[in-house]
Amino acid sequence: MSYIWNIPTKVMFGSGQLNSLHDEAMPGKKGLVVISNGKSAKVNGYLERVLQELKTAGAASIVFDHIEANPLEATIQQGVELARREQCDFIVGLGGGSVLDAATIIAAVAPQPSGRVWDYVAMGSGGKRPLTVSSLPYIEVTTSAGTGSEVDAWGVVSNPDTKEKVGFKGEYPWLAIVDPELMLTVPPKFTAYQGFDALFHSVEGYISNFCNEAAAMVEREAIRNVAQYLPLAVKDGSNLEARTKMAFANTMSGYSMDVGSCTSEHAMEHALSAFHHALPHGAGLIMISLAYFKYFIEQHVCDDRFIMMAKDMGKKDAQKPEDFLTALADLQKACQVYDLKMSDYGIHPDEFQAMAKNARDTMGGLFMCDPAKLREADVIKIYEQSYR
Ligand SMILES: [Zn+2]
Repeated sequence: MSYIWNIPTKVMFGSGQLNSLHDEAMPGKKGLVVISNGKSAKVNGYLERVLQELKTAGAASIVFDHIEANPLEATIQQGVELARREQCDFIVGLGGGSVLDAATIIAAVAPQPSGRVWDYVAMGSGGKRPLTVSSLPYIEVTTSAGTGSEVDAWGVVSNPDTKEKVGFKGEYPWLAIVDPELMLTVPPKFTAYQGFDALFHSVEGYISNFCNEAAAMVEREAIRNVAQYLPLAVKDGSNLEARTKMAFANTMSGYSMDVGSCTSEHAMEHALSAFHHALPHGAGLIMISLAYFKYFIEQHVCDDRFIMMAKDMGKKDAQKPEDFLTALADLQKACQVYDLKMSDYGIHPDEFQAMAKNARDTMGGLFMCDPAKLREADVIKIYEQSYR
């Protein structure tokens, strides 16, 4: 029942909130606006709107448009160098989880007197140097409903040389804009991947050893909203009510990671996408999820919690923990992601042993959050059971 709730980010939530950004007193004179290397922020007009909002608020800006999915250390480092060179005093992340995570890390590393991103990574083979200067203030404008990154202090960075994908702890955003109108254009496939990411942040949090009353409150609200509205958002992306509820679930799941914690499912997925860079985070989670949660259900370590989640997901008459697996499979089918295949992304069973080791070496802390002990052999078995 003990927890610390200390999330200092101002959140502007709801349709049309981006249009109010200019009413905020900006935290600096020149912002580095970070977007992806894709087209969506430009063709949908979001970039233009953000630049105009900053201008109206009296701030100058420059754009860094190179962030890829599962952002690389070298790319984020380019953003750090641009922010330093241009003397930007605040950062704006405009995009999905990869962009928001990159903005968190750029804001943290740019003001440090020396060093590059990997020097300050505290996990795996990172340099483990402490951040000695406060982060630049930064604004997160999320265009997806998945990672909850707009309300957390974490980023994720990938290092292809060492095959690592690890968390990076920076500071909380100064401001978050969660405007579901910016999510209307996300294609169905990615709507589903991102929505399941939000779901798993809360499902993992709810069964974790670090669950508490505050975490459970936001987690169950998120689970209920994803179960009810994700199929609608996948089916009809222009459904603003479904997008709004998914945006809400996403932010609640973000809070769940602030007051609670994910479990090792996230470590196992990071290993998959560290080895296979094209694999979207949410898709990787979906692939391993049924075997992963089945493991804990068979240990009978938190039956009541699985039953509660099954009820939250619409199985009102749920009586046994296995009903959660049925609810999860049904939701995957309703969102057309039940038959995702690892082999479609080039994943091969020969890699499972190395991936199991990688999951523990890079994100080992999450295994401490599991409600039952997951040994390396169990991790390999879950990968094997999930393989198609
Ligand atoms: Zn995630």
